[in-house]
Amino acid sequence: MADAPPPLRPAVFLDRDGTLIDDEHYLSDPDRVRLRPGVARALVRLREAGLALVVVTNQSGIARGMFGEAEYEAVRARLDALLAAGGASLDASYHCPHHPDFGPPCACRKPGIALYQQAASEHALDLARSAFVGDKLRDVSPAARFGGLGVLVPGPDTSFADLERARERFALSTTLDAAADRVMARLRAAGPGA
Ligand SMILES: [Mg+2]
Ligand SMILES: [Zn+2]
Repeated sequence: MADAPPPLRPAVFLDRDGTLIDDEHYLSDPDRVRLRPGVARALVRLREAGLALVVVTNQSGIARGMFGEAEYEAVRARLDALLAAGGASLDASYHCPHHPDFGPPCACRKPGIALYQQAASEHALDLARSAFVGDKLRDVSPAARFGGLGVLVPGPDTSFADLERARERFALSTTLDAAADRVMARLRAAGPGA
């Protein structure tokens, strides 16, 4: 008998800059990585609830020539280390290095959905039962494409327009911890395997 395919897991797709860490704008120095308050605790709770944790981040600083993949990787490694110190870890990180002003348009720059689809196929994730969390509308709007839950967590770089649109169509939480509560409540309401 052939092996059954693994059951698909729900995930939380997390924006990086302005959501997990302070948005330093084109961050390339690992020494400037600062976790936002309560982030490690929120990720621990989400993992304990059975959710995969996946970062999806636009890094147009690479297309702009401001830093390279090596610097991106150093920042990613520092974020992993800071999370580990708080008992948390990520399942995967995906980034778009492009920008339409500096090359052909791509399918992976948020709000494009290519990186979510790639993550789903590489990690057996159920996009319709997943949550899409970040400080900009483009982080949460993929929820509308997949049928998942979008939660905007506004920060210093959230525009009023994004806030207004998110208020109409998605959920709003003031902290990542509060967003985690909302995600877990949705998961419980959907029931096991729903
Ligand atoms: Mg952001
Ligand atoms: Zn891209």
